[in-house]
Amino acid sequence: MIPYMITIGDAIHNFADGLAVGAAFSTSWKTGLATSLAVLCHELPHELGDFAALLHAGLSVKKALLLNFSSALTAFLGLYIALSVTTGEEFQAWIFTVATGLFLYVALCDMVSDSHAGFPWLPTPALPPRPARERGKVGALIQGSR
Ligand SMILES: [Zn+2]
Repeated sequence: MIPYMITIGDAIHNFADGLAVGAAFSTSWKTGLATSLAVLCHELPHELGDFAALLHAGLSVKKALLLNFSSALTAFLGLYIALSVTTGEEFQAWIFTVATGLFLYVALCDMVSDSHAGFPWLPTPALPPRPARERGKVGALIQGSR
């Protein structure tokens, strides 16, 4: 059940990323390039984390890659929809508003909360200690030891 929840959530997220990139490119190529760079920067750790979570849930490497790839395809759906409907400024404003909210959510809730130890000026939330096997999963994945 957990792998499918991760995949469906990631598919919705990637669809929203595609909407943002499409709306940005319909504004100007510079805005589109900047938005694409922002999406790339948050997608690399996000997809790596999803891949590690899928492996941790017991999927094989091949099936985890397949689920991750299939959820990534929804970005193209969002991109094409945004490129086709964002001819008016009103649609662009709505899509940018939603995309900005999503980016802020990802930055503040997903990334900062996990990396708060690197920012001593931020208050440290009282989180339960993570099991050792979870802490080492991403590091082992990056080193290719699985
Ligand atoms: Zn994203």
